[in-house]
Amino acid sequence: MRTKEIIQSFVGTSKIVLKDVYTDAETNAIVIKARPTKIEQCRCGLCHRKGKYYDKGQGERRWRALDIGSQMAYIEATVERVRCKKHGVVTAAVPWARHDTWFCRSFEDTLAWLTVQTSHSVVSEFMRVDWHTVDRACKRVYDDLEAASSCRFDRLVNIGIDETSYKKGHKYITVVVNHDTNSVVWCSKGFGKTVLTQFFERLTPEQRASIRCVSADGARRIAECVEEFCPNAERCVDPFHVVAWATEVLDKERRRAWAEANATAKAAQKRKPGRPVKGDVVNPEKKDARALKNLRYVLLKNPENLSANQKDQLKFLTKANPRLYRAYLLKEGLRLALKAGSDEISEALTKWMGWAQRCRIPAFRELRLKIKRHFKAIVAAATHGLSNARIEATNNKIKLIIRRAYGFRNMDNMIAMIMLSCSSVHPSLPGR
Ligand SMILES: [Zn+2]
Repeated sequence: MRTKEIIQSFVGTSKIVLKDVYTDAETNAIVIKARPTKIEQCRCGLCHRKGKYYDKGQGERRWRALDIGSQMAYIEATVERVRCKKHGVVTAAVPWARHDTWFCRSFEDTLAWLTVQTSHSVVSEFMRVDWHTVDRACKRVYDDLEAASSCRFDRLVNIGIDETSYKKGHKYITVVVNHDTNSVVWCSKGFGKTVLTQFFERLTPEQRASIRCVSADGARRIAECVEEFCPNAERCVDPFHVVAWATEVLDKERRRAWAEANATAKAAQKRKPGRPVKGDVVNPEKKDARALKNLRYVLLKNPENLSANQKDQLKFLTKANPRLYRAYLLKEGLRLALKAGSDEISEALTKWMGWAQRCRIPAFRELRLKIKRHFKAIVAAATHGLSNARIEATNNKIKLIIRRAYGFRNMDNMIAMIMLSCSSVHPSLPGR
């Protein structure tokens, strides 16, 4: 293999003409002096069309290439400016790098692949680049891959929509997941109807028509969007969110019971000063109130996962506060009803709604009305076997990505990182 071919395979393109290779006396880096081939010269950096030579631009400049052994390597070339019919005067494209960057394509691809696998600090140290450069390079790689792969919107059948928070719940992003491939299809900052509309508007009429089921929580804005853009699609409210509604109501009930017990304890006669008499129980009401306060995780946990101590706590509840115990049984009843197979869920839910109607707990009667409103969508989720648990798993992954990067200053970089990690747009290592 001749030097020219070695360099071409190192840079990852054959559209390069080698002029010289030397070592920079100052930095000890290897510099490959080159130029694009004739056919690649005078192309617009943005649209890659042939343009007219304008001027010499900034003259000679360098692009960081992948290291050769332990030595840093650069490609050095003169980049002229061209006049493009569409974009005006722009810097000409070079075959070894993307537009508006100081890094070679192979270098950025490696950077993006590594960032998906490991933390920013490891990548920035290993690749010898600045922390923020990592994010910017990932964004460029994502933009490049995104332009070439809109096919992930084709043949969408079952999708799930969810909104997840970041920055301690101050900001939100909307995530759309393909249930069949278990990957993120689309992601955008913000939430609400306008944000979701952007997703549906991006799809062609054929792509929208192929969607059969849309799973989400019971939010009205999502339902309205689905009705507007995919009238043929069936809306599903997944069991995960329905149980979450019940646990929320149950926790509200527990807090109410605790507040009541606390008020009773405060109103109870205060202990006389001095040493208590032997065998005298000091303020039993206060003890009961504290026990109710500590019941939170016992009530939220599934009964099969309770420890022996937690089971005792639950036994205490049956006598201490029958109303709260009834609320707990209602939550468990709903969970089991949702677990019934697709043939029996309709009957099981109707039975549960009858129970909730008679339970004499206003919060659960309200929940019954909510379930009645979404009855069709809940049954549809069970029939099609759709669950947003997968989206919740994706949400966890997103939170991990954000945490691993110690937060993102630029939200577009964050979305690019999420898409590179969780969607079918995967960065690949050069030459593989
Ligand atoms: Zn152009």
